Formats: sequence, structure tokens, C-alpha cells
Amino acid sequence: MNSDTETLVIIGSGPAAWTAAIYAARANLDPLVYEGAGSRTMIPGGQLMFTTDVENYPGFPDGVSGIDMMLDFKKQAVRFDTRVVTEDIVEVDFSRRPFRLRSSEGQEVLAETVIVATGANARWLGVPGEERLAQSGGGVSACAVCDGALPHFRGQVVAVVGGGDSAMEEALYMTKFAGEVLLIHRRDELRASQIMQERALASDRMRFLWNRTVEEVLGDDVITGLRLRDTVTGDASEVEVGGMFVAIGHIPNTGFLQGQIDLKENGYVRLPTAWRTETNVPGVFAAGDVMDDYYRQAVSAAGTGCMAALEAERFLAHNGTAG
Ligand code: FAD
Ligand code: NAP
Repeated sequence: MNSDTETLVIIGSGPAAWTAAIYAARANLDPLVYEGAGSRTMIPGGQLMFTTDVENYPGFPDGVSGIDMMLDFKKQAVRFDTRVVTEDIVEVDFSRRPFRLRSSEGQEVLAETVIVATGANARWLGVPGEERLAQSGGGVSACAVCDGALPHFRGQVVAVVGGGDSAMEEALYMTKFAGEVLLIHRRDELRASQIMQERALASDRMRFLWNRTVEEVLGDDVITGLRLRDTVTGDASEVEVGGMFVAIGHIPNTGFLQGQIDLKENGYVRLPTAWRTETNVPGVFAAGDVMDDYYRQAVSAAGTGCMAALEAERFLAHNGTAG
């Protein structure tokens, strides 16, 4: 192997990337992590850097702050000598091994194996008040399964925005805690699958506000209401709510992988074999939300990070190095 060729490069810095790094470092693969350069919508540490308490990650009976959790994930990886570069990977050439990667500062790095763990971003509405109240824990969230059980939402009227399966799932989930769930959709027809539509429409704890868009999230420290616009009549209105869950889809961070590995129609990495993290390119693995459009949880991301590291180790044992 060329002395400049890395054994394993991990791209990303959420639960999947750091778990992969912990396993790889302990297996003497000497991993190099590109944790991302940081931007308004993405910061090293991943999606949990944007949340307050994580209450469903096992091992934390009293919950844990998302930021503390991700700093500890990184600390644990660094403790085993994981090397970290605070840059993005912006371009890859997976046509042959060793693979070539280019960083946002223009560095080229060669790698025998690669784990892609760049995650996904929740799609937000982009209206005034939304980002501020989401970041401050003021009752605005993009994940009901993550935040819905918090005491803040109990017995409240909460809004769920969107008309797809995610919105139906989040809304039905919230009927367990909220006094009433308002499903706000911009059309008068749902995109969700028939079975999810039927379940949602049958719920006596849900009310549908058709043909409405959210124009502003109201409230100083905590959400108090929404300013809505009727998409048919153009009329403005306000509704009082104690929470809002945005469920209008996710965007996987796979732009830099276009043409290099097999992606699904929705942009997520396609994994050819069930219960394996190897992509269609031997030696390139994917873990976490970047390949998971279904569970999207920290613990499942961490689990697949572990799987990817073990698979990279076995790949190297069977295939040796190319560089
Ligand atoms: P991510 O956490 O998405 O992190 C990937 C990171 O990789 C990016 O943030 C970025 O820093 C980096 N990156 C991206 N592109 C590049 C690149 N080209 N080069 C280098 N680096 C790059 N799940 C739970 O289980 N419990 C919760 O309570 C919970 N709360 C949540 C609250 C919020 C507000 C959100 C948005 C999500 C929440 N989730 C929760 C979901 C959970 O955060 C995700 O499932 C999990 O973070 C996915 O982990 P990941 O490792 O796949 O990547
Ligand atoms: P989706 O199917 O793309 O639906 C997104 C919804 O959000 C659509 O109704 C869309 O409205 C609306 N929307 C998008 N941008 C908006 C905006 N700016 N303002 C207001 N509304 C906006 O996404 P998803 O629901 O996350 O589902 C993604 C995939 O996962 C789907 O294939 C789905 O079937 C699957 N999934 C399955 C399950 C399940 O089976 N249990 C659960 C969750 C997800 P329009 O309809 O007007 O475009």
C-alpha cells in the first residue's frame, strides 16, 4: 500500500460516523474522519446538534442533550486515536481502488475503503419563527418520534404539516400525547399511501386543515400559534397551537456521490443486500440516515455505523490493499 493511502476514510460526523470510527479504530484500521466544514444547516456532530434533549437513546435514563451526546461520541472515537479533519468531502472517484476523495480545501486523499455517513437534513418550511423556535426547543420539531413525548406537548393542540406518509405517521403518533392534532396540508388531497390516509382520517383526535400553508410561526420563547394562508381563496387566518411538527420530507446528503454509487430515486444510497452496508461499489459502505429513508433514528444510525466498520474490516481482510 502506498504510504499516503488511508486504510479507511469515514465521511460524516453523526452517530453513524463516530460509531464506525470507534469500531474501526479499535480494530487498528487507523480511520480518518472528515467531519464536515459546517454551514447554516449542517454542523459537525450531525442532526442532534440541532436538538435539545434526546430521550430515546438507550443508556441515558434521564435523557441527554444532543450536543453533549455527539461531543462524547467524538471524544470516544478520538480516545482510540481516530484522526479528524474539519472539512467536507466534495468530490469522489470510486471507479477504482484506492478510491480518490477531494476535500473542500482542495486536499486529495486516497483510501482503500470508505464509509459514507453524511446523513440527511429534514426539509423545513423556511418561514419566520420556525428556525428560531426549533433551535431553542420552543415546541417546533421535525421529528415527532424524537420529541413528541416531551411534557411540553401533553394535552396541547399541535400541528403537523405535510400530506405524505411521514406526516400521517407523525400525526397519528402525536394523538397519543396531544389534546388534538391539526394536520395542515397545502392541497385537498393527501400524498400518503391509502392505508395511512385511512388510519389518519379515521382518528377522532385529528382535524384536517386542507389547502393551507404556514406563513409564520408565532411565539417568543415558545410557539403559541401559526399564521396560515388558504391556497384557494388567499385568505389569511391564525390558529392557536402549542407545537408544530414539520413532516415535509428529508434531503439526503448525497450530492457529491452522484454518478459514483447507486442512489435511489429519492437520492438515498441504495444498498443491494439486506442487512449489509456495502454499496454497489465493493469497498464503499454507507451507514445512517444517508441510506435510511425509513427509521431515521440515532440508535439505528449508530447500529449501522458499527456494521459498516465491521464490514470494512472484513473486506480488507479478504481483499487486501490495492494502493
Ligand atoms: P447525521 O446526524 O445526519 O450527521 C451527518 C453529518 O455529516 C452532517 O451533519 C455533517 O456535519 C456531516 N457531513 C454531511 N455531508 C458531508 C460531507 N460531504 N463531507 C463531510 N461531512 C459531511 N433521533 C433519535 O433517535 N432521537 C432523537 O431524540 C432525535 N432527535 C432529533 C431532533 C432533530 C431536530 C433532528 C433533525 C433529528 C433528530 N433525530 C433523533 C434523528 C437523528 O438525529 C438522526 O437519525 C441521526 O442523527 C442520523 O445520524 P447520521 O450519523 O446518519 O448523520
Ligand atoms: P413525501 O412523500 O415526499 O411527502 C411530503 C409531503 O410534504 C407532501 O404531501 C408535500 O405536499 C408536502 N410538502 C413538501 N414540501 C412542502 C412545503 N414546502 N410546504 C408544505 N408542504 C410541503 O415525504 P414523506 O412523507 O417524508 O415520505 C417519504 C417516503 O418515505 C415516501 O416514499 C413514503 O411513502 C415513505 N414513508 C413510509 C412510511 C410508512 O410506510 N409507514 C412512513 C414514512 C415515510 P404535496 O403532496 O402537495 O407535494
